[in-house]
Amino acid sequence: MTETIGVIGAGTMGNGIAQVAARAGYTVVMRDVKDEFLERGLKSIDRSLQRDVDKARLAEEEKRAIVGRITATTELGALEGAAFVVEAVTENFAVKSEIFRALDELCRPEAILASNTSSISITKLGGATRRPDRVIGMHFRNPVPVMKLVEVIRGIATSDETYARTHALTERLEKIPLECNDSPGFVSNRVLMPMINEAIFALHESVATREAIDGIMKLGMNHPMGPLTLADFIGLDVCLAILNVLHEELGDPKYRPCPLLKRYVDAGWLGRKSGRGFYEYSDK
Ligand code: NAD
Repeated sequence: MTETIGVIGAGTMGNGIAQVAARAGYTVVMRDVKDEFLERGLKSIDRSLQRDVDKARLAEEEKRAIVGRITATTELGALEGAAFVVEAVTENFAVKSEIFRALDELCRPEAILASNTSSISITKLGGATRRPDRVIGMHFRNPVPVMKLVEVIRGIATSDETYARTHALTERLEKIPLECNDSPGFVSNRVLMPMINEAIFALHESVATREAIDGIMKLGMNHPMGPLTLADFIGLDVCLAILNVLHEELGDPKYRPCPLLKRYVDAGWLGRKSGRGFYEYSDK
């Protein structure tokens, strides 16, 4: 249990991944580009663990031990000894491929390099390294400490051994790995985003009100929230970006983003985070 897991990025996903890895007993090195981003990530970990302490799901000493296993750094070189690195930086191919190239130079030949990308090709990231057989996708969900699923994505060159090691690691993090092949949107966004898009088309074409569309999907399909509420939660800009990837890369008009979605994003109505999306959020 002394293996080191490297995490690149201390944002929403990175600090969650660092937390679950440290909680599973791993030594964690979390890297971001600025101290203030690391501090924000560490605070978020502290808050999340404190909630478990308050609910008596975690002892105060265990919390201290978990936090003590995480080193936060701006130095990429600190990841040199990691057996496994999970990259969770901004969703941008140029930034991610540069990180994969640098990690490939730095890390031990047997180390596995994983990406938490939502839409970038794992095969393409593998192509930025000399070890494409040890590059894989690990698509965690937000919030990482709560959500059980990890989509484990095989690039065209990912080896069976890399898949098996990643599957085992995912289970040690107390998550459930489900396997898929590298393809735009993987499984989750390929199925989810067309549903959200169709709900937006239904609103656009006045098939029903926002409340009725969400209510029908909640009550009729037993979904915990309706698709328009969910889109606001994810961020309308994020939904549009993923639909654009599906549309461009699969070339099928069925993925065409609804014009109403584009208009909302143009207006800066991005959902919860901007205070307005399909609904209004007065707390912002
Ligand atoms: P975020 O913006 O919260 O965090 C990204 C972090 O990466 C920032 O702190 C940024 O400073 C850092 N970063 C940028 N360049 C870096 C570099 N060169 N080295 C180290 N750190 C660097 O983003 P997020 O929501 O955590 O998303 C991260 C990844 O996870 C993206 O690929 C995203 O698509 C994916 N993802 C996000 C969600 C979600 O719901 N937020 C869910 C699944 C997957």
